[in-house]
Amino acid sequence: MTQAESQPHKIALVTGSSRGLGRAMALSLAGAGFGVAVHYGRNQAEAEKVAEEIRALGVPVAVFGADLSVPANAGTLVETVIKDMGRLDVLVNNAGITRDTLAVRMKDEDWDAVLDTNLGSAFAASRAALKHMMRARSGRIVNIASVVALMGNPGQANYVASKAGLIGLTKALAKEYGGRGITVNAVAPGFIESDMTAQLPGDVQKAYLGGIPLARFGRAEEVAALVAFLASDAAGYITGQTIGVDGGLSPH
Ligand code: NAP
Repeated sequence: MTQAESQPHKIALVTGSSRGLGRAMALSLAGAGFGVAVHYGRNQAEAEKVAEEIRALGVPVAVFGADLSVPANAGTLVETVIKDMGRLDVLVNNAGITRDTLAVRMKDEDWDAVLDTNLGSAFAASRAALKHMMRARSGRIVNIASVVALMGNPGQANYVASKAGLIGLTKALAKEYGGRGITVNAVAPGFIESDMTAQLPGDVQKAYLGGIPLARFGRAEEVAALVAFLASDAAGYITGQTIGVDGGLSPH
């Protein structure tokens, strides 16, 4: 019996699941019966707490650390998860950072850090996962983009470019690997309450709220619910899509 056959639960890796949206996605996938690879960059203690919550749900869980500002680490992370957990059915490329400033003031290192972490690592993780998923002739990749990839946003040239890149990557991979039974989709959250958004100045938060038809910020669980759906068997005919969870903020 191979390791994969002895492992009855499908396994999902959520990058950046130590906190924020990724934590909610890890819990949501665990609630749907997936074993979960919880990943952290710096916050191991937080990741262990998430793993405890998942363990209580009775599904397999393990914690993995990797600095995804270096894309090569993302490939190694995926290979380690497959080795340790026996299989990988779902990859959620969620880990992300911002380094906001106007383009004319943006340093090369701010551009590189955001592009490498948000896009380079998502590509490297996807490449490693696809090799495995192609052999299994099934798999799900979900890329966490952002509404700003569709709208643009001042002060975020690096972040917007990275998230728009993720949407392009999603479309290209969906076409390359659809024939192997692998779906690739993007989720574009709007303004979701989190550590990242809590850092935004009050006037910026107010301005966003004014443009949201549902007149409230979103909750991490509302993004996580879509990720769990896209990972489910019910979403088997959806690929290459970018789906907003933004209260109506996005332009289409
Ligand atoms: P967050 O609370 O800041 O959490 C970011 C996660 O990414 C953490 O788990 C962090 O791990 C991990 N991470 C960051 N840099 C890393 C690195 N170099 N190596 C490894 N892991 C790293 O962010 P969030 O608000 O939950 O956002 C999650 C995703 O949703 C991001 O891709 C973000 O762009 C996207 N998004 C968020 C919103 C929103 O409103 N919050 C809107 C649109 C899109 P550690 O803490 O362990 O280092």
